[in-house]
Formats: sequence, structure tokens, C-alpha cells
Amino acid sequence: SLENKRPSDAQILAQARARSKSRGRLSMTTTDDFKFGTTLGEGSYSTVQKATHVITGQPYAIKILEKSHLIRNNKMHTAIAERNALAALGAGHPGIVRLHSTFQDEWRLYFVLDFARNGEMKTILNKIGSLSLPCARYYAAQLVDTIDYMHSKGVIHRDLKPENLLLDDSYRTKICDFGTGKVLETGVDRAQTWVGTAQYIAPELLEAKETSKSSDFWALGCIIYQFIAGRFAFQGLSDFLTWQKIKKLEYTFPEGFDNEAKDLIQKLLVREPTERLGVGSPGSENDIDALKGHSFFKPISWDKLWVDPPPPLE
Ligand code: ATP
Repeated sequence: SLENKRPSDAQILAQARARSKSRGRLSMTTTDDFKFGTTLGEGSYSTVQKATHVITGQPYAIKILEKSHLIRNNKMHTAIAERNALAALGAGHPGIVRLHSTFQDEWRLYFVLDFARNGEMKTILNKIGSLSLPCARYYAAQLVDTIDYMHSKGVIHRDLKPENLLLDDSYRTKICDFGTGKVLETGVDRAQTWVGTAQYIAPELLEAKETSKSSDFWALGCIIYQFIAGRFAFQGLSDFLTWQKIKKLEYTFPEGFDNEAKDLIQKLLVREPTERLGVGSPGSENDIDALKGHSFFKPISWDKLWVDPPPPLE
């Protein structure tokens, strides 16, 4: 009879487990599968805790989001956006904090992420001020390569900044916090929401409230500037005054700033989004290959970028 042909719940579960195992993912995860450790960070809507998988001993960072808090603040969509962006990015690139699995209980959502042992780039910058030129070049190149991958998957980050660049065991960088991330529908290039952090916001966001891939390249310019100068490219006494400076493209380079880096930053911090280096369609003079081929990146071997050890952080 039909009844006999229908697989039992136990069989369905076993199949599901086998399927997720063959995909290399944790299956049917609950908090019991982990031993929770120290708090790694606290965001406005989440806590990130170190956790060790009980069976494999593998360390993870688990982002925990309180459902009631999300609902109360009408932020459920950002949690979903983050999960969707991370899922679209998958395991395809070493420069992105990978989402291994998600699960929930009655009160919370849990995102099981790669553990980035060496914390935020921001902490390093706070400690040492600025990066040496080889370091700035190396981390800028990793960022370019990761942004290229991210955009190829239709994801824009929209809040790139040193707080969201984490460092793994080998001091390679991983982008995290896709809470402001956006997965573009095929054929669509722009998104309509206003997000980001004052110092890194692109001028078009301040005016048209429209983001596109090119806003990530603006932030890249701000970040490379900060790596080398040890201060923000745009900084006023208030967010409002910072934004005035951004709109007027009012920034200066400190004396002795590397000329190649200066040229690169000037080609990223361009008011017209479509004219920024890296954003052009393939084959155009400002496409991603032109960015990777910029003279600042001459010493970089792009094919060994994620294999070669980083220059010492000093
Ligand atoms: P915010 O409100 O600032 O945007 P958030 O709630 O979106 O924060 P995240 O930025 O994702 O949270 O994480 C908060 C902090 O936790 C990070 O800045 C970082 O210090 C730490 N953290 C996040 N993910 C990881 C990870 N995978 N490995 C190690 N530390 C992490």
C-alpha cells in the first residue's frame, strides 16, 4: 500500500542528515552541540560568542540574535538579509566569514560562523596607528579580491570599515557583518536603502540614497587611506560635518604619502559612482582588472594572495 512506501520520519531524518553531511555541514544543530566560551563582540542587535563544537573540537563564532529584540525594533529583515547574503556567498572565498549553519530555539537565532581568531583590523589600527606600506598593500589587495568575489555573487556589503575586517589564525582578512548586506536581484544594479557608517559613506548615498556596487569601492578608498595615513579620509566634528566634507570631496593627504597609493585612492574617491576604479563593465578602462592592475598593486601576486603569508603587522 501507499502507507508502506512512505518513508518513516526516522528515514527522512537520516536522509537529511546524510545529505547535509555530504555537503560538509553541521546538521540538526542545537546549542547542545557547542560549548560556549567568551563573548567576542557585541553589536546593536546581536552578541557574538566563541563556541567549540563538542564532537569535532572545531572553534566557531556564533552570532546570537534575540528574536524579541529583533521584532521589537523591527529588525528581523536585517537578520534575514545577513543570512541571505552569507548564504549567497557560500564557502567560495577565503576573504569572507563563512556561514556554516543557522539554527534557532524559541528565543534566539544562531549563525554559526568561521572563527576569526585575531579580531578586528580596527583594534590593530588603534594599537599601531597605521599600517606599513607592504601591509596596507597586502590587505588592500585581499579586500579588492574579496569585493570582486562578493560582487560577482550579486552581494554588496554597504558597510565596509576596519571594524568589519576580521583577521584569522594566519592574519589573513575576512569580511564580516553582512547585516547591511544586500543581494541584488539579477539584472538589478542598485538598492534603495540608506545604510552605513558616517566616515565611509559614499556621496551618492547622502544625496540619492541609492547604493550600488560602487559604494563598496568608495569605502575601499576610505579604508586604504586610513591604513596608510592612520586617520579617516573624511572626519568632521559631527557626522553632519563629515558628510559635508564627503560631498565636497574635501580631504588631503599627509606629507610623504606614497604616490602610487595616492593615485589609487584618487581613482576610488571619485564623486561619480560609475567612474570609480573597479566598477566599470569588463573590458572598460576602469574595470576590476584595471583596479587589480593599478601600479600600487604591482608587487602583489594575485594568484598567491591567499597562500603567501602576510607581511608582519607593524
Ligand atoms: P554592529 O551592530 O556593530 O553592526 P553586529 O551586531 O552586526 O554589529 P558583528 O559586527 O557581526 O555584529 O559582530 C560584532 C563583533 O563581534 C565584531 O565586530 C567582532 O569583533 C566580533 N565577531 C563577529 N564575528 C566574528 C567572527 N566570525 N570571529 C571572531 N569575532 C567575530
